[in-house]
Amino acid sequence: MTPRVAVIGGGLAGITAALRCADAGLDVTLLESKGHLGGLTHSFRRGELDVDNGQHVFLRCCTSYLDLLRRLRVLDKVHLQPRLAIQVRSPRLREPVWLRRNALPAPLHLADSVLKYRPLPLADRLKFAGAALALRGVDPASPSTDAQSFAGWLSRHGQSERAITKLWDLVGIATLNAPATDASLALAATVFQLGLLTDAAAADIGWSKVPLRELHGDPAKARLTEAGAQVLLGTKVTALTRADDGWRVVAGETEFVADRVVLAVPPDAAHRLLPAGSVSLPEGWAARLGSSPIVNAHVVFDRRVLDEPFFAAVDSPVQWVFDRTAQSGVDSGQYLAVSLSAADDLVDVPVRDVRERILPALRAVLPAAADAGVRDFFVTRERHATFRPAPGSAALRPGAVTAAGGVVLAGAWTATGWPATMEGAVRSGDAAARAVLGVAGVHDGSTSRESKDD
Ligand SMILES: Cc1cc2nc3c(=O)[nH]c(=O)nc-3n(C[C@H](O)[C@H](O)[C@H](O)COP(=O)(O)OP(=O)(O)OC[C@H]3O[C@@H](n4cnc5c(N)ncnc54)[C@H](O)[C@@H]3O)c2cc1C
Repeated sequence: MTPRVAVIGGGLAGITAALRCADAGLDVTLLESKGHLGGLTHSFRRGELDVDNGQHVFLRCCTSYLDLLRRLRVLDKVHLQPRLAIQVRSPRLREPVWLRRNALPAPLHLADSVLKYRPLPLADRLKFAGAALALRGVDPASPSTDAQSFAGWLSRHGQSERAITKLWDLVGIATLNAPATDASLALAATVFQLGLLTDAAAADIGWSKVPLRELHGDPAKARLTEAGAQVLLGTKVTALTRADDGWRVVAGETEFVADRVVLAVPPDAAHRLLPAGSVSLPEGWAARLGSSPIVNAHVVFDRRVLDEPFFAAVDSPVQWVFDRTAQSGVDSGQYLAVSLSAADDLVDVPVRDVRERILPALRAVLPAAADAGVRDFFVTRERHATFRPAPGSAALRPGAVTAAGGVVLAGAWTATGWPATMEGAVRSGDAAARAVLGVAGVHDGSTSRESKDD
């Protein structure tokens, strides 16, 4: 009998796990409560615009995510910088500065950019290298590392508050979804070690050339169906209980027994659905792990105001700004998305007030926008964009295998060692599939399938 696997949740974690299991020949049913796959990476129509729920980028070191894109046959739909280059703007600088990697190996690849980084005084630039080198030696797997705040560690290593907010947070807020003051040192060390301090090419930035739904959700549905999996959309699982011969999955009218279950839902839903005692985590772990919001302010200008695909800003409430014109289908003017991470102070603010805060700040860093008319301004808010990457969060993230034999967990919030990212989600899906296939004694045939798709 072919083992039957229920994958609950159709975000990147669930998609990955379901594809791996289907490729290995298991009988897979994926149940997703929304009407589309892709989870937190999705798009919608607003009039003539294709809008992403929030700008998503990845780095060259996101190898599992890139493997998923290959399996979905959409690698040609992303752009990956040949060489890291970040334009940084400030209202206090007449000209932007650049953080670019040179041809030297890491960590020297950024040395000249940091030395020329004018938002900081020379003394701060010179002190950067010492902390960067020390960060390479931090053990991210140690609980005592996770108990510390990144900002505390940085200041003990000679970094001024100014250096933390204008340089470390520039990368940190966007990748961790928290400023250094609120972030676990372990998660920050992971990001900086993998992205910036080990391999010079690791932090080259990539992004989708199409709306996210065309990159993830729609191709995933097609590839899963081709691989023989059943995809049930608009199907919210409300109960998961032990049956004589497996696990009973209940979702409205749909009810069946599966041999194995991959629970790839957000932490609060996993907490509700998991049988009691399945994970050895402190009481109320999902609520304690918590979540952190991301807000995007979308601005359609009546003319071109930005020549680069994106830039980052310092000395400004604006964080990262992306040109969305090509992906959205706008054929005149320019559509920019202002991505605002760790947006606790904005997530409940009315659109008019977000506009009052963000539009003048955007014009202050982007002089070409000063006289441009605004055709449209709207806001997308993801209240539970990521788990809160606070000190101590590692102890609240369960691994894939649970004590409820046959039920495994997946999701960017599980114990991947990564912050909540697309790469983390895919890695968790891979780990969940390995657990399912290992128990079922099935060889994972996905490698040969992937190479056939290349
Ligand atoms: C605005 C924004 C910007 C981001 N930017 C980046 C970025 O630039 N780079 C990056 O790497 N990451 C980024 N992220 C994070 C990244 O999107 C997530 O870490 C990743 O997509 C999470 O995938 P997942 O599968 O773990 O979870 P989810 O995407 O949350 O998937 C869980 C799925 O389970 C479904 N579900 C829930 N309950 C049930 C139920 N009872 N029954 C059935 N289905 C259920 C949900 O509908 C959802 O589809 C961003 C996130 C947001 C929101």
